[in-house]
Order: sequence, then structure tokens, then C-alpha cells
Amino acid sequence: MSEFDVVIGLETHVQMSTNTKCFCSCPVEFGNEPNTNVCPVCLALPGSLPVLNEKALEYAIKASLALNCEVHELSVFARKHYFYPDLPKGYQISQYDKPLATNGYIDIKVDGKTERVRIHRLHMEEDAGKTIHKGKFSYVDLNRAGTPLMEIVTEPDITSAVGARLYLEKLRNIMRYIGVSNADMEKGQLRCDVNISLKPKGSDKLGTKVEIKNLNSFRFVQKAIEYEIERQAKLLKKGEEIIQETRLFDPSSGKTYTMRTKEEAHDYRYFPDPDLIPVRLKKELIEEIRKTLPELPDDKAKRYVEEYNLTEYDADVLVADKDRAVFFEEAIKHYKKNPKAVANWIINELLGRLNEEGIPISESPVKPEYIAQIVSLIDEGTISTKIAKEVFDESFKTGKQPKQIVEEKGLKQVSDEGEIRKIVEEIVNSHPAEVEKYKSGNTKLLGFFVGQVMKATKGKANPKIVNKILNEILNG
Ligand code: ADP
Ligand code: MG
Ligand code: ZN
Repeated sequence: MSEFDVVIGLETHVQMSTNTKCFCSCPVEFGNEPNTNVCPVCLALPGSLPVLNEKALEYAIKASLALNCEVHELSVFARKHYFYPDLPKGYQISQYDKPLATNGYIDIKVDGKTERVRIHRLHMEEDAGKTIHKGKFSYVDLNRAGTPLMEIVTEPDITSAVGARLYLEKLRNIMRYIGVSNADMEKGQLRCDVNISLKPKGSDKLGTKVEIKNLNSFRFVQKAIEYEIERQAKLLKKGEEIIQETRLFDPSSGKTYTMRTKEEAHDYRYFPDPDLIPVRLKKELIEEIRKTLPELPDDKAKRYVEEYNLTEYDADVLVADKDRAVFFEEAIKHYKKNPKAVANWIINELLGRLNEEGIPISESPVKPEYIAQIVSLIDEGTISTKIAKEVFDESFKTGKQPKQIVEEKGLKQVSDEGEIRKIVEEIVNSHPAEVEKYKSGNTKLLGFFVGQVMKATKGKANPKIVNKILNEILNG
């Protein structure tokens, strides 16, 4: 397969989390009785007129800026015509030749290497309703009709299935950071069409692309692309041509199949929507919105490395999810002296445990402050790392504060030299054979003695002091 380069471009729809719809004041809500969140505008009753939701516009501008796009001072809504029962007007309000924003990018890290995915454009549009097929009948629910969407189109810069997945995860992450969408793929808040082609390795001429529509999970995106790469490579190796077409992915077989070919492609007959005035944005407004952007994941990761001396990898893990970053920053507020250790505890202990139990970090029984306590208890020498793991475990199970657990269970580390010396002496005296071997050169046995002391003290002896005293006695 390595004789081909993989070329992928993604078209992604992101549902904005505004309270009301894009062009009317119906609520954006899910799970309601069908056709209850509707009004003359989203039902397309004659004489009704759309009015742009300013919040949706603000969210789309925010997203454009977060994706490093140029936001245009003039953009225009256009009608995109097609006929389907869940599209009551017979057209969708979208943007066509004058989109809200163009020319942005998202950087992704593939195998530790940064790759830039350029964003061709970001435009606003409204969602359609839902058609539900049941037996002989089809039912139309228009609660979703008119929900504000952003369509985000990349340049064909993605070079692998994994890259496509990383791009989407990063996009979701950014949307959550800026609070314009929860971008949950399983809930249809982020939907993706994949365009994919192959070309001879190193060639600068793009091959014929195939579009795979309506992929609704990260896993399916990756699987569909992997299948499609193989399918196209097989055809090309046989000297056959790729047909430009739209395909669908069938999760049960893991295969893609033809939905429609180019000949059947729509002619959408776009034209500017006369019911909506062009969107004119003052530069000042755009700059004002830019100021409301929070620190975004890339900047955050950079700051964690510079300010807290984290590794790039650890910083990336922490910023890959907004709630994780919030957790970390809250924890280091409670104990400022050792952010690196705090990060390690979150990444190496907490995340794995939460994952096992299926608990989101925002609901972690071990609060940020508790992680801070654990690290500070270790740093002060009150508990050993080994005991700290027990304390963490107990805190995870009970939600109790580490300090309280250490107190209640008497887990404080023993650092009293006299006390430890007594125990060390007992152990050395009761193992003359090992002492003999140690003295005749088998210094590895030091570990044995340390282990015995730890066992005798139930792990509570300060290991530094144990080592020191053992050295004095055995080598003295
Ligand atoms: P269409 O007019 O068929 O929608 P566009 O040029 O608008 O095609 O591109 C749609 C998406 O397809 C974009 O994300 C773009 O990057 C991607 N794309 C375009 N050409 C190719 C190609 N040869 N291989 C893979 N992706 C492509
Ligand atoms: Mg397209
Ligand atoms: Zn409405």
C-alpha cells in the first residue's frame, strides 16, 4: 500500500449550543415530543420570515477565530435547494460564495510530530429535521429543523485515518474549550463527511476522490477510511479508475458502499436569500469577540511546559480535555510547589482509575485538592509514595480527604531514627547468613534488607532513613 499517498479532506458539521434556533426563537432541545419545538418560521409557513440569532453568529465567529480563520466583514446567507420531507422550505439556509470565515488551521500531533491541517472555510447554516422510518410509514420530526450549525471544511491535508481522527478530536476539544458546542459525535452534535483519494507516492496531482457521508463516531471515521484506502488501492493496482461518487459506511460489515454517483449529484441552485440581509461585521466587534477567547489547548500545553516544566507529552495529555486541564489547574492552586508531581498523579493514577470506572473527571471522587494533599504529604515526608498509593485508593473508594485517611489509619511515615535503628538492628541480627553474603560482595542484598524493614513497619518507615541506617550498620 505504500506505493500510494493518502489524501483526505473533512467536511464537518458542528451543532451550536445556543438556547434558540438559528432563525427563530424556538428552543434548541433534544428528546422532546416530536414537532413541539416548532413555529411558523421553522415549519416554513407562508409569510413567515427568518431573523438571524445573534448568539449563533457570535458563536460562529468565536469558533472561526479559535480555528485561526480570517473572519470576513461581509458574508451572505444563501438558499441551498433540495427536496426532502424533513426540509420544509424546500431549501436550507446556508452560506455559499461568501462564507463567514476562511483560511484557518488546526495543528495535530501524529506520532509526536506536528502536522498542520488547513481549514478552507467555516460557514453557518441551519439543520434539517429528522425523518424516522418505521415499517410502512415515515415520520417527520421538525424539532431539529433550524438548529444552528457550522460547517467546517478542511483542505486535503490529512494523510491517514489516524490523522482524521486526531483532527476531529482536536476540533471537538476546541469547540468545548470555547463553549460553543459540546460536539458529541454520538449525539449528532458533530457529524463528518470524509473525502478521500490516493495518488502515486510523491505525486503532486490529486487523484479522484470519493466522499463518505454521515459518519457518526470517531471509530467509524477511522474504520471507513481504512477500508476505503484498501479498496481504492486494490482498484488502482489493477489499473482501474476510481469513480467519483458518494458512499456510505456500514458499521456491521466495516465496508463502504455506493450511495450515489456524480451523475446523480445535486444541483442546489444556490442564490442569496432575499429574506436575510448580508451579515456586516465591524472589525472592532470581531476583535472584541477575539478578546473573549479562553486560553486554547495549544497555548495551554506550551505554558505547562514552560511554566511547570512538564514534558510535552504530559502537557498534551492534560490539555486534550478541557475538564482535565481545569482539574490540573485547580489542583496546583492548592499546592503550588510541585506541579510536575501533581501532573504525574493525575496522569498515572487518576486518569486510569477514572477510565476503568467510567467516571468523568469532573465527577472524580478524588478532588483536585486531594491530589494536592497527596503530593504535599509525600513532599513533606509524612507518607511514602507506596503509602500514598494506598491513600489514593482509599480516597477514590470513599471520597475522603487524604489527610483524614492518613490521620485515621495512622499511616504517617516513621522518620524517627532511633525507632528505625532498633528495627534495622533486629532484622540484621536475625539474618546472619544474608549479612555474611552481603559483606562478601553480594550488595544486591541491600534490597532484601530494605524490604524486610518495610514489611516489619507495614511500609511506614521512611525509606531514606532506612537506607542510611542499613548502610551504616552493614558497611560500618
Ligand atoms: P466538492 O465540490 O465535491 O464538495 P470540494 O472541492 O468542495 O469538493 O472539497 C470538499 C472536500 O474534499 C474538502 O475537504 C477538500 O479538502 C476535499 N478534497 C478535494 N479534493 C480532494 C481529493 N482529490 N482527495 C481528497 N480530498 C479532497
Ligand atoms: Mg462537498
Ligand atoms: Zn421555530
